[in-house]
Amino acid sequence: MARDRVVTGERQQEDHPDLQTGGPALRPVHMRDYVGQSDLVERLSIALEAVKQRKDPMEHVLLHGPPGLGKTTLAHVIATEMGSRLYTTSGPALSKAGDLVGTLTKMEAGDILFIDEIHRLPAAVEEYIYPAMEDFKVDFTVDSGMHAKVITVGLKPFTLIGATTRAGLLTQPLRSRFGISHHLNYYDDGELRRILERAIERLSMNDVSTDALDSIASRSRGTPRVALRLLRRVRDFAQVRSRGTVSPPVVEEALSLEGVDGEGLDELDRKYLRTIFETYGGGPVGLEAIAATMGDDATTLEDVVEPYLLQNGFLARTRQGRCLTVRAGEHLGFQVPGDLF
Ligand code: ADP
Repeated sequence: MARDRVVTGERQQEDHPDLQTGGPALRPVHMRDYVGQSDLVERLSIALEAVKQRKDPMEHVLLHGPPGLGKTTLAHVIATEMGSRLYTTSGPALSKAGDLVGTLTKMEAGDILFIDEIHRLPAAVEEYIYPAMEDFKVDFTVDSGMHAKVITVGLKPFTLIGATTRAGLLTQPLRSRFGISHHLNYYDDGELRRILERAIERLSMNDVSTDALDSIASRSRGTPRVALRLLRRVRDFAQVRSRGTVSPPVVEEALSLEGVDGEGLDELDRKYLRTIFETYGGGPVGLEAIAATMGDDATTLEDVVEPYLLQNGFLARTRQGRCLTVRAGEHLGFQVPGDLF
């Protein structure tokens, strides 16, 4: 479930490039502007160079990792570098095989098809993808009953780029048809700062200190989309309250208005941690019990709250249940017993 949280990596209405700036989109266009993910960038650059020399289409690419880390951006970058057109769709949008076949037959040699949330592709559509990926053809049946006929349509060689936040949900046959499969990692603060530096130039924000950018980066949960969203909030705040000057206190004030603290935790994260401490003595406690106390849904907590807390050492998951860490206690100012797990 997409909640209206300023710190979520998931796409929100306001992230649309035209709405977000009223000006140039913040997406990098070329590989050289794409910050971080150096292993992946190197693998792709070599593959791109090789296929350009051979005049072949690029291998099919699967990008997996949390939302907001630059999967869609990378698909656009690859298309630019190949000089090809990019067709964009998503698993849930391809509800009928006809939708997919329609797009595939329109594509020219070397074009790229980007399928976001590819784990949500309906099984009936997935079957059409296999021969398309492997042999550049699709078979489809016309008419039904005794008049049914299978027609094979040849396709121009194309590249499929699939993106998913849940690689584990992909079927093995689909997964095995990608030549390159890569996991995107969270960004470190230095990389986020570089992304922010580029953005402030594009947004003509001229009075921003380096410390202020560091302060935004450290609250961005390793996620470029969050960093850029926080920057936009800070920009509005600075325009109205400090004549456009962005210093660390301005960042601090702007983002605490949004409920985002120095570690990038928001009110929902803190409520979750407080519940474990106040009601369950710091744990171990089962997820269902926490959800019931908070009046929230366990799956939502598991998908949108826990990953960041686990990854950053605020929470431990043991066989007996969830436990707070000493770090969580230090951050929120309560005494967590040191021997919970
Ligand atoms: P995903 O498809 O993984 O959800 P996106 O590609 O839509 O993420 O990226 C979200 C935003 O973050 C984009 O608007 C883009 O401007 C920015 N972004 C992501 N990765 C990078 C990067 N490596 N360098 C610069 N900006 C990035």
